Amino acid sequence: CGIVGVIGKKNATEILIQGLEKLEYRGYDSAGIYVTSNQQQNYLIKSQGRIADLQSKIGKDVEGSIGIGHTRWATHGEPSERNAHPHTSGNDRFVLVHNGVIENFEEIKQEYLQNKQLLGETDTEIVVYLIEYFAEQGLETKEAFKKALSIIEGSYAFALIDSENPEVIYVAKNKSPLLIGLGKDFNVICSDAMAMLQETNRFLEIVDGEMVIVKADEIKIEDEKGNAVYRESYEAQLDL
Ligand code: GLU
Repeated sequence: CGIVGVIGKKNATEILIQGLEKLEYRGYDSAGIYVTSNQQQNYLIKSQGRIADLQSKIGKDVEGSIGIGHTRWATHGEPSERNAHPHTSGNDRFVLVHNGVIENFEEIKQEYLQNKQLLGETDTEIVVYLIEYFAEQGLETKEAFKKALSIIEGSYAFALIDSENPEVIYVAKNKSPLLIGLGKDFNVICSDAMAMLQETNRFLEIVDGEMVIVKADEIKIEDEKGNAVYRESYEAQLDL
């Protein structure tokens, strides 16, 4: 299982697929990508099986400068195209990839999502619907995501895109690996630096509980209280 993301590069699709291939060693049963651009064209492509199976479904038109990708190792819900990530909320506004396990997803479903029509069986889908629920209550995306994070219990690495404002990827983690890779006028996200070494060798750690707002030319880290955090990046050492 693994996560990749890119913002600010024209060939986002290619970068995501290459990154997912590098994460193959982590094991997976299905994979998917979401790619968009500022022109509001969105593509969501998912497949059971290998990255090659996913790749065969991706047409030449699937282009964009922002995207997230995922390889899934199913914990809740059978391996299938429907249960593969990225997951979208009911109104298709929010798009989420997740590694890890949400332990209280049944309780969340009972308490907040009685009126929602869920499509799959994953614990992850509950989270994207919960974010949508809080957005519908009037919260801005970052706040809706934070509110959802304050309720969920378990392990996670998340990357979230709000398709109404795809100039940002929201990122958070707890007990699952996730890194930001730094580029010039672009940034990337990955579970393992290896997935993005062809794009950059400068990386930024994320600490459990932080929220990171990733734009093409800016990265903001906030701690649990919403205070800005400054952290030095480091250079990944290649083991040759
Ligand atoms: N628990 C999630 C699922 O079953 C994520 C699994 C993973 O880390 O790949 O879909």
